[in-house]
Amino acid sequence: MDEAAFTAHCAAKLEEMILREGPDTIAAFIGEPMLGTGGIVPPPAGYWDAIQTVLRKYDILLIADEVVTGFGRLGTMMGSDHYGLKPDLITIAKGLTSAYAPLSGSIVSDRMWEVLERGTDEFGPFGHGWTYSAHPICAAAGVANLKLLDDQNLVANAGNVGAYLNETMAAALGGHTHVGEVRGTGMLCAVELVKDRDDRVFFDPADKVAPRVVAAMLERGVIARAMPQGDILGFAPPFPLTRAQADEIVTVTKDAVAQVLG
Ligand SMILES: *Cc1c(COP(=O)(O)O)cnc(C)c1O
Repeated sequence: MDEAAFTAHCAAKLEEMILREGPDTIAAFIGEPMLGTGGIVPPPAGYWDAIQTVLRKYDILLIADEVVTGFGRLGTMMGSDHYGLKPDLITIAKGLTSAYAPLSGSIVSDRMWEVLERGTDEFGPFGHGWTYSAHPICAAAGVANLKLLDDQNLVANAGNVGAYLNETMAAALGGHTHVGEVRGTGMLCAVELVKDRDDRVFFDPADKVAPRVVAAMLERGVIARAMPQGDILGFAPPFPLTRAQADEIVTVTKDAVAQVLG
């Protein structure tokens, strides 16, 4: 299947499920603009257009989980901007403070807010709250972080240097016998290692191939992440990354893959 065919397949499956369950029984569709912890997987071409067309047809709300993609990771302020999502609700956390302090939140659209407001008039206040809501220290850290993103033009840098990182990684490792795919967008990049790229065979997880490559990288001074879903090396560098540092990440990855897999 090519990407367009896969997108059409996903949209058809979604519609099938909505009809099977009954549109009125479905509260919302939730997804990350681009899959993060699930393996750093960009959606196939046209995915969000096709999915949103189905959701609109059945009046189903869209929740964008932007905990990873929010605040610049894809080179746009929100991942929804990058892929043209029009979510009704956005969840935010990690990038909001760059994790210097724990802070999370939800951005509620006018469309949802109006319903909550009307409900409050009718039924009394909508009861929800958290012990640490609006915590002043964490909120201050969030404001300071967002100011730095603007002042240092870090979202644009994440887009530019992130694209460079993805290109150089693909050029350096894409042809390796044991690299099944190099993929990513913005400041997210993944290298998936496979036993046989032509027959699409994975390594035995017991061989711990990715963790061994990551350990070899750490010895060379670069932190990568062996992701839990397979032999996937995941990279999510800080936004101020320079091209020279991107080159270093790529060189170290290449050397470590060569050390472990030849
Ligand atoms: C980390 C993560 C979460 C969890 O965020 P919390 O603030 O810890 O609740 C949710 N969604 C995605 C996509 C994440 O990566």
